Amino acid sequence: PEMTQKMLADFKGPNGPKPTVMVTGAAGFVGMWTCLALKKIGMTPIGYDVVNNYYSTDLKQSRIAKLKENGIEFVKGDVCDVGKLKETISNHQITRIIHLAAQAGVRYSLDHPMEYTRNNIDCFVYLLETIVELGLHKNGRFVYASSSSVYGNNKKVPFQESDRLEDPASLYASTKRTDELIGQTYYNLHNVSSIGLRFFTVYGAYGRPDMAPWIFSEKIMSNETIQVFNHGKSRRDFTYVEDIVQGVVNSLFVVPGQPELINLGNGRPVVLADFVRLVEKEVGWEAKKNHIGMQKGDVPVTYADITKARRMLGYNPNTPIEKGIADFVTWFRDANALQYRMTKSTS
Ligand code: NAD
Repeated sequence: PEMTQKMLADFKGPNGPKPTVMVTGAAGFVGMWTCLALKKIGMTPIGYDVVNNYYSTDLKQSRIAKLKENGIEFVKGDVCDVGKLKETISNHQITRIIHLAAQAGVRYSLDHPMEYTRNNIDCFVYLLETIVELGLHKNGRFVYASSSSVYGNNKKVPFQESDRLEDPASLYASTKRTDELIGQTYYNLHNVSSIGLRFFTVYGAYGRPDMAPWIFSEKIMSNETIQVFNHGKSRRDFTYVEDIVQGVVNSLFVVPGQPELINLGNGRPVVLADFVRLVEKEVGWEAKKNHIGMQKGDVPVTYADITKARRMLGYNPNTPIEKGIADFVTWFRDANALQYRMTKSTS
Protein backbone atom coordinates (compact mmCIF):
# COMPACT_ATOMS: atom_id res chain seq x y z
CA PRO A 1 0.00 0.00 0.00
CA GLU A 2 2.76 2.44 0.91
CA MET A 3 4.49 1.94 -2.41
CA THR A 4 1.21 2.37 -4.23
CA GLN A 5 0.51 5.65 -2.45
CA LYS A 6 3.94 6.97 -3.27
CA MET A 7 3.71 6.01 -6.93
CA LEU A 8 0.24 7.48 -7.11
CA ALA A 9 1.58 10.76 -5.73
CA ASP A 10 4.33 10.75 -8.37
CA PHE A 11 1.81 10.25 -11.13
CA LYS A 12 -0.41 12.99 -9.77
CA GLY A 13 2.38 15.56 -9.43
CA PRO A 14 2.47 18.38 -11.97
CA ASN A 15 5.77 17.22 -13.45
CA GLY A 16 5.32 13.51 -13.01
CA PRO A 17 4.68 11.25 -15.97
CA LYS A 18 1.00 10.86 -16.82
CA PRO A 19 0.71 7.59 -18.64
CA THR A 20 -1.80 7.26 -21.43
CA VAL A 21 -3.69 4.07 -20.71
CA MET A 22 -5.79 2.19 -23.23
CA VAL A 23 -8.79 0.59 -21.55
CA THR A 24 -10.35 -2.14 -23.69
CA GLY A 25 -14.00 -2.84 -23.02
CA ALA A 26 -14.51 0.84 -22.16
CA ALA A 27 -18.12 0.85 -23.38
CA GLY A 28 -18.70 -1.94 -20.87
CA PHE A 29 -19.65 -1.68 -17.23
CA VAL A 30 -16.28 -2.02 -15.48
CA GLY A 31 -14.43 -0.37 -18.38
CA MET A 32 -16.41 2.85 -18.15
CA TRP A 33 -15.80 3.17 -14.40
CA THR A 34 -12.11 2.35 -14.85
CA CYS A 35 -11.70 5.17 -17.40
CA LEU A 36 -13.42 7.64 -15.06
CA ALA A 37 -11.17 6.62 -12.15
CA LEU A 38 -7.98 6.96 -14.24
CA LYS A 39 -9.02 10.40 -15.39
CA LYS A 40 -9.69 11.44 -11.80
CA ILE A 41 -6.09 10.72 -10.76
CA GLY A 42 -4.64 12.65 -13.67
CA MET A 43 -3.92 9.91 -16.18
CA THR A 44 -5.11 9.92 -19.77
CA PRO A 45 -7.43 6.99 -20.42
CA ILE A 46 -8.33 6.10 -24.01
CA GLY A 47 -11.41 3.91 -24.32
CA TYR A 48 -11.43 1.09 -26.87
CA ASP A 49 -14.45 -1.15 -27.52
CA VAL A 50 -16.16 -2.83 -30.47
CA VAL A 51 -19.59 -2.07 -28.91
CA ASN A 52 -21.06 -5.50 -29.58
CA ASN A 53 -24.76 -6.25 -29.09
CA TYR A 54 -24.57 -8.91 -26.38
CA TYR A 55 -26.84 -6.51 -24.50
CA SER A 56 -28.37 -3.10 -25.26
CA THR A 57 -26.07 -0.98 -27.43
CA ASP A 58 -28.09 2.04 -26.23
CA LEU A 59 -26.78 1.38 -22.73
CA LYS A 60 -23.23 1.17 -24.11
CA GLN A 61 -23.78 4.43 -26.00
CA SER A 62 -24.89 6.08 -22.76
CA ARG A 63 -21.63 4.96 -21.14
CA ILE A 64 -19.62 6.31 -24.10
CA ALA A 65 -21.51 9.60 -23.74
CA LYS A 66 -20.47 9.70 -20.08
CA LEU A 67 -16.83 9.15 -21.07
CA LYS A 68 -17.03 12.01 -23.55
CA GLU A 69 -18.70 14.31 -20.99
CA ASN A 70 -15.66 13.68 -18.82
CA GLY A 71 -13.24 14.54 -21.62
CA ILE A 72 -12.23 10.93 -22.29
CA GLU A 73 -11.57 9.85 -25.86
CA PHE A 74 -13.20 6.74 -27.19
CA VAL A 75 -12.13 4.62 -30.17
CA LYS A 76 -14.46 2.03 -31.68
CA GLY A 77 -12.43 -1.04 -32.50
CA ASP A 78 -12.06 -4.79 -32.11
CA VAL A 79 -9.24 -6.17 -29.97
CA CYS A 80 -8.72 -8.87 -32.63
CA ASP A 81 -8.05 -6.10 -35.19
CA VAL A 82 -4.28 -5.69 -34.82
CA GLY A 83 -4.14 -2.88 -37.40
CA LYS A 84 -6.65 -0.81 -35.46
CA LEU A 85 -4.91 -1.59 -32.17
CA LYS A 86 -1.54 -0.41 -33.48
CA GLU A 87 -3.04 2.69 -35.06
CA THR A 88 -4.76 3.62 -31.78
CA ILE A 89 -1.64 2.97 -29.71
CA SER A 90 0.48 5.14 -31.99
CA ASN A 91 -2.08 7.95 -32.53
CA HIS A 92 -2.58 8.38 -28.80
CA GLN A 93 0.94 7.51 -27.66
CA ILE A 94 -0.42 4.81 -25.40
CA THR A 95 2.07 3.38 -22.92
CA ARG A 96 -0.06 1.05 -20.78
CA ILE A 97 -3.03 -1.28 -21.32
CA ILE A 98 -5.86 -2.43 -19.07
CA HIS A 99 -7.69 -5.19 -20.90
CA LEU A 100 -11.31 -5.60 -19.83
CA ALA A 101 -12.94 -6.40 -23.19
CA ALA A 102 -14.43 -9.87 -23.25
CA GLN A 103 -17.50 -11.87 -23.95
CA ALA A 104 -18.84 -11.99 -20.41
CA GLY A 105 -21.68 -14.07 -18.96
CA VAL A 106 -21.72 -17.67 -17.82
CA ARG A 107 -25.13 -18.71 -19.16
CA TYR A 108 -24.65 -17.28 -22.66
CA SER A 109 -21.50 -19.40 -23.03
CA LEU A 110 -23.61 -22.57 -23.01
CA ASP A 111 -25.13 -21.69 -26.40
CA HIS A 112 -22.51 -19.37 -27.93
CA PRO A 113 -19.17 -21.08 -27.34
CA MET A 114 -17.37 -19.50 -30.31
CA GLU A 115 -18.02 -15.95 -29.07
CA TYR A 116 -15.95 -16.90 -26.04
CA THR A 117 -13.03 -18.56 -27.78
CA ARG A 118 -12.79 -15.67 -30.25
CA ASN A 119 -13.20 -12.67 -27.95
CA ASN A 120 -11.59 -14.09 -24.82
CA ILE A 121 -8.77 -16.22 -26.21
CA ASP A 122 -7.97 -15.17 -29.81
CA CYS A 123 -8.20 -11.44 -29.07
CA PHE A 124 -6.14 -11.91 -25.90
CA VAL A 125 -3.31 -13.40 -27.95
CA TYR A 126 -3.56 -10.70 -30.64
CA LEU A 127 -3.28 -8.08 -27.92
CA LEU A 128 -0.26 -9.74 -26.29
CA GLU A 129 1.47 -10.10 -29.67
CA THR A 130 0.91 -6.38 -30.25
CA ILE A 131 2.27 -5.52 -26.80
CA VAL A 132 5.43 -7.54 -27.46
CA GLU A 133 5.89 -6.14 -30.97
CA LEU A 134 5.57 -2.53 -29.78
CA GLY A 135 7.53 -3.13 -26.57
CA LEU A 136 4.73 -1.83 -24.33
CA HIS A 137 5.54 -4.45 -21.71
CA LYS A 138 8.69 -2.50 -20.89
CA ASN A 139 6.56 0.30 -19.39
CA GLY A 140 5.00 -1.78 -16.62
CA ARG A 141 2.53 -4.54 -16.00
CA PHE A 142 -0.21 -5.56 -18.43
CA VAL A 143 -3.45 -5.62 -16.42
CA TYR A 144 -6.39 -7.80 -17.49
CA ALA A 145 -9.69 -9.12 -16.17
CA SER A 146 -10.01 -12.75 -15.18
CA SER A 147 -12.96 -14.02 -13.16
CA SER A 148 -13.99 -15.76 -9.95
CA SER A 149 -15.52 -18.40 -12.23
CA VAL A 150 -12.05 -19.98 -12.62
CA TYR A 151 -12.59 -21.49 -9.14
CA GLY A 152 -15.45 -23.55 -10.59
CA ASN A 153 -16.86 -26.04 -8.14
CA ASN A 154 -14.11 -25.45 -5.62
CA LYS A 155 -15.36 -26.79 -2.28
CA LYS A 156 -12.86 -24.98 -0.08
CA VAL A 157 -13.85 -21.42 0.84
CA PRO A 158 -12.77 -18.68 0.84
CA PHE A 159 -11.14 -19.04 -2.58
CA GLN A 160 -7.42 -18.41 -2.54
CA GLU A 161 -5.20 -17.66 -5.50
CA SER A 162 -3.08 -20.70 -4.66
CA ASP A 163 -6.06 -23.11 -4.89
CA ARG A 164 -5.82 -25.86 -7.48
CA LEU A 165 -8.18 -25.16 -10.34
CA GLU A 166 -9.37 -28.15 -12.23
CA ASP A 167 -13.13 -28.06 -12.34
CA PRO A 168 -14.50 -25.26 -14.57
CA ALA A 169 -18.30 -25.20 -14.70
CA SER A 170 -18.61 -23.24 -17.95
CA LEU A 171 -16.75 -22.41 -21.13
CA TYR A 172 -16.61 -18.81 -19.93
CA ALA A 173 -14.57 -20.03 -16.96
CA SER A 174 -12.28 -22.11 -19.19
CA THR A 175 -11.53 -19.14 -21.45
CA LYS A 176 -10.63 -16.95 -18.46
CA ARG A 177 -8.41 -19.67 -17.00
CA THR A 178 -6.80 -20.04 -20.43
CA ASP A 179 -5.99 -16.32 -20.42
CA GLU A 180 -4.21 -16.77 -17.11
CA LEU A 181 -2.07 -19.55 -18.58
CA ILE A 182 -1.39 -17.48 -21.71
CA GLY A 183 -0.33 -14.62 -19.43
CA GLN A 184 2.21 -16.92 -17.80
CA THR A 185 3.37 -18.14 -21.22
CA TYR A 186 4.07 -14.60 -22.46
CA TYR A 187 6.13 -13.97 -19.37
CA ASN A 188 8.14 -17.14 -19.93
CA LEU A 189 8.68 -16.38 -23.63
CA HIS A 190 8.76 -12.58 -23.83
CA ASN A 191 9.06 -11.30 -20.28
CA VAL A 192 5.59 -9.73 -20.36
CA SER A 193 4.74 -9.00 -16.75
CA SER A 194 1.01 -9.14 -16.06
CA ILE A 195 -1.67 -9.02 -13.41
CA GLY A 196 -4.83 -11.06 -13.92
CA LEU A 197 -7.62 -9.80 -11.69
CA ARG A 198 -10.25 -12.32 -10.68
CA PHE A 199 -13.35 -10.17 -10.33
CA PHE A 200 -16.18 -11.43 -8.12
CA THR A 201 -19.74 -10.48 -9.24
CA VAL A 202 -19.35 -6.76 -9.84
CA TYR A 203 -22.42 -4.55 -9.38
CA GLY A 204 -23.30 -0.85 -9.29
CA ALA A 205 -24.66 1.98 -11.44
CA TYR A 206 -24.45 1.36 -15.21
CA GLY A 207 -24.28 -2.37 -14.41
CA ARG A 208 -25.03 -5.19 -16.81
CA PRO A 209 -28.60 -6.15 -17.82
CA ASP A 210 -27.70 -9.87 -17.74
CA MET A 211 -26.79 -9.83 -14.05
CA ALA A 212 -28.87 -10.43 -10.92
CA PRO A 213 -29.20 -6.85 -9.54
CA TRP A 214 -30.51 -5.68 -12.91
CA ILE A 215 -32.75 -8.64 -13.66
CA PHE A 216 -34.34 -8.55 -10.19
CA SER A 217 -34.92 -4.78 -10.32
CA GLU A 218 -36.35 -4.98 -13.82
CA LYS A 219 -38.70 -7.84 -13.02
CA ILE A 220 -39.90 -6.44 -9.73
CA MET A 221 -40.63 -3.05 -11.30
CA SER A 222 -42.44 -4.71 -14.21
CA ASN A 223 -44.36 -7.04 -11.89
CA GLU A 224 -42.87 -10.10 -13.59
CA THR A 225 -41.80 -13.32 -11.86
CA ILE A 226 -38.14 -13.71 -10.96
CA GLN A 227 -36.41 -17.08 -11.19
CA VAL A 228 -34.59 -17.81 -7.95
CA PHE A 229 -31.94 -20.37 -8.83
CA ASN A 230 -30.75 -23.06 -6.44
CA HIS A 231 -33.83 -22.25 -4.32
CA GLY A 232 -32.14 -19.06 -3.11
CA LYS A 233 -29.36 -20.93 -1.33
CA SER A 234 -26.42 -19.93 -3.57
CA ARG A 235 -23.94 -17.44 -2.19
CA ARG A 236 -22.29 -14.69 -4.21
CA ASP A 237 -19.49 -12.37 -3.21
CA PHE A 238 -21.06 -9.20 -4.66
CA THR A 239 -18.43 -6.50 -5.08
CA TYR A 240 -19.21 -2.83 -5.63
CA VAL A 241 -17.80 -1.43 -8.85
CA GLU A 242 -15.97 1.48 -7.18
CA ASP A 243 -14.14 -0.98 -4.93
CA ILE A 244 -13.19 -3.16 -7.91
CA VAL A 245 -11.94 -0.17 -9.87
CA GLN A 246 -9.67 0.86 -7.01
CA GLY A 247 -7.98 -2.54 -7.32
CA VAL A 248 -7.77 -2.26 -11.11
CA VAL A 249 -6.14 1.17 -11.05
CA ASN A 250 -3.69 0.26 -8.26
CA SER A 251 -2.56 -2.75 -10.33
CA LEU A 252 -0.87 -0.34 -12.73
CA PHE A 253 1.59 0.59 -9.98
CA VAL A 254 2.75 -2.89 -9.01
CA VAL A 255 6.44 -3.29 -9.79
CA PRO A 256 6.94 -5.69 -12.73
CA GLY A 257 8.00 -9.27 -12.03
CA GLN A 258 6.43 -12.74 -12.14
CA PRO A 259 2.82 -12.71 -13.40
CA GLU A 260 0.32 -12.36 -10.58
CA LEU A 261 -3.29 -13.52 -10.23
CA ILE A 262 -5.27 -11.59 -7.66
CA ASN A 263 -8.81 -11.94 -6.30
CA LEU A 264 -10.85 -8.75 -6.34
CA GLY A 265 -13.91 -9.58 -4.29
CA ASN A 266 -15.70 -8.26 -1.27
CA GLY A 267 -14.87 -11.14 1.06
CA ARG A 268 -18.46 -11.26 2.38
CA PRO A 269 -20.69 -13.56 0.34
CA VAL A 270 -24.44 -12.94 0.43
CA VAL A 271 -27.09 -15.67 0.32
CA LEU A 272 -29.23 -15.21 -2.81
CA ALA A 273 -32.52 -15.17 -0.86
CA ASP A 274 -31.18 -12.30 1.29
CA PHE A 275 -30.01 -10.52 -1.80
CA VAL A 276 -33.50 -10.70 -3.29
CA ARG A 277 -34.89 -9.21 -0.07
CA LEU A 278 -32.45 -6.30 -0.28
CA VAL A 279 -33.51 -5.50 -3.83
CA GLU A 280 -37.20 -5.79 -2.85
CA LYS A 281 -36.63 -3.36 0.00
CA GLU A 282 -34.98 -0.79 -2.25
CA VAL A 283 -37.46 -1.12 -5.09
CA GLY A 284 -40.28 -0.87 -2.58
CA TRP A 285 -42.32 -3.97 -3.20
CA GLU A 286 -42.14 -7.73 -3.14
CA ALA A 287 -41.07 -9.89 -6.03
CA LYS A 288 -43.13 -12.68 -7.51
CA LYS A 289 -40.73 -15.59 -7.15
CA ASN A 290 -40.30 -18.95 -8.76
CA HIS A 291 -37.82 -21.09 -6.86
CA ILE A 292 -35.95 -23.50 -9.12
CA GLY A 293 -32.84 -25.70 -9.02
CA MET A 294 -29.26 -24.98 -9.94
CA GLN A 295 -28.64 -24.04 -13.55
CA LYS A 296 -26.05 -25.59 -15.82
CA GLY A 297 -22.82 -23.60 -15.66
CA ASP A 298 -23.63 -22.18 -12.22
CA VAL A 299 -21.67 -22.78 -9.01
CA PRO A 300 -23.17 -22.84 -5.49
CA VAL A 301 -20.78 -20.34 -3.93
CA THR A 302 -18.23 -17.64 -4.69
CA TYR A 303 -16.21 -16.24 -1.83
CA ALA A 304 -12.95 -14.33 -2.20
CA ASP A 305 -10.01 -14.36 0.13
CA ILE A 306 -8.73 -10.82 -0.51
CA THR A 307 -5.56 -10.97 1.60
CA LYS A 308 -3.33 -10.84 -1.47
CA ALA A 309 -5.18 -7.86 -2.98
CA ARG A 310 -4.91 -6.00 0.32
CA ARG A 311 -1.19 -6.69 0.49
CA MET A 312 -0.21 -6.09 -3.15
CA LEU A 313 -2.72 -3.44 -4.20
CA GLY A 314 -3.71 -1.67 -1.01
CA TYR A 315 -7.19 -2.88 -1.95
CA ASN A 316 -9.82 -2.13 0.67
CA PRO A 317 -13.43 -2.79 -0.38
CA ASN A 318 -15.69 -0.90 1.99
CA THR A 319 -19.10 -0.54 0.36
CA PRO A 320 -21.76 -2.42 2.36
CA ILE A 321 -24.16 -4.41 0.18
CA GLU A 322 -27.12 -2.34 1.48
CA LYS A 323 -25.57 0.90 0.27
CA GLY A 324 -24.41 -0.61 -3.02
CA ILE A 325 -27.87 -1.95 -3.84
CA ALA A 326 -29.48 1.35 -2.85
CA ASP A 327 -27.11 3.20 -5.21
CA PHE A 328 -27.80 0.74 -8.01
CA VAL A 329 -31.58 0.96 -7.69
CA THR A 330 -31.41 4.77 -7.53
CA TRP A 331 -29.39 4.83 -10.75
CA PHE A 332 -31.74 2.28 -12.33
CA ARG A 333 -34.72 4.56 -11.68
CA ASP A 334 -33.01 7.84 -12.59
CA ALA A 335 -31.61 6.43 -15.84
CA ASN A 336 -34.98 4.89 -16.67
CA ALA A 337 -33.00 1.70 -17.21
CA LEU A 338 -36.08 -0.30 -18.18
CA GLN A 339 -35.52 1.18 -21.66
CA TYR A 340 -32.40 -1.02 -21.94
CA ARG A 341 -34.21 -4.27 -21.16
CA MET A 342 -32.21 -7.39 -21.89
CA THR A 343 -35.12 -8.61 -23.99
CA LYS A 344 -35.16 -5.46 -26.13
CA SER A 345 -31.77 -5.73 -27.85
CA THR A 346 -31.44 -2.95 -30.41
CA SER A 347 -29.65 -4.85 -33.13
P1 NAD B 1 -19.30 -5.84 -20.31
O1 NAD B 1 -19.92 -6.86 -21.20
O2 NAD B 1 -20.16 -4.75 -19.78
O3 NAD B 1 -18.05 -5.16 -21.03
C1 NAD B 1 -17.22 -5.85 -21.93
C2 NAD B 1 -17.06 -4.97 -23.17
O4 NAD B 1 -16.13 -5.61 -24.04
C3 NAD B 1 -18.35 -4.80 -23.97
O5 NAD B 1 -18.70 -3.43 -24.06
C4 NAD B 1 -18.04 -5.38 -25.35
O6 NAD B 1 -18.59 -4.61 -26.41
C5 NAD B 1 -16.53 -5.34 -25.37
N1 NAD B 1 -15.94 -6.35 -26.24
C6 NAD B 1 -16.22 -7.67 -26.31
N2 NAD B 1 -15.45 -8.26 -27.23
C7 NAD B 1 -14.66 -7.29 -27.76
C8 NAD B 1 -13.65 -7.28 -28.77
N3 NAD B 1 -13.32 -8.40 -29.41
N4 NAD B 1 -13.05 -6.11 -29.05
C9 NAD B 1 -13.39 -4.96 -28.41
N5 NAD B 1 -14.34 -4.91 -27.46
C10 NAD B 1 -14.96 -6.06 -27.14
O7 NAD B 1 -18.62 -6.64 -19.09
P2 NAD B 1 -18.07 -6.12 -17.69
O8 NAD B 1 -18.99 -6.58 -16.65
O9 NAD B 1 -17.70 -4.69 -17.77
O10 NAD B 1 -16.75 -7.00 -17.57
C11 NAD B 1 -15.45 -6.49 -17.80
C12 NAD B 1 -14.45 -7.62 -17.69
O11 NAD B 1 -14.51 -8.19 -16.40
C13 NAD B 1 -14.68 -8.76 -18.66
O12 NAD B 1 -13.43 -9.27 -19.06
C14 NAD B 1 -15.42 -9.78 -17.83
O13 NAD B 1 -15.27 -11.09 -18.33
C15 NAD B 1 -14.76 -9.58 -16.49
N6 NAD B 1 -15.57 -9.97 -15.33
C16 NAD B 1 -16.71 -9.26 -15.01
C17 NAD B 1 -17.46 -9.63 -13.90
C18 NAD B 1 -18.69 -8.89 -13.47
O14 NAD B 1 -19.30 -9.28 -12.50
N7 NAD B 1 -19.09 -7.80 -14.15
C19 NAD B 1 -17.05 -10.73 -13.12
C20 NAD B 1 -15.91 -11.43 -13.47
C21 NAD B 1 -15.18 -11.02 -14.57
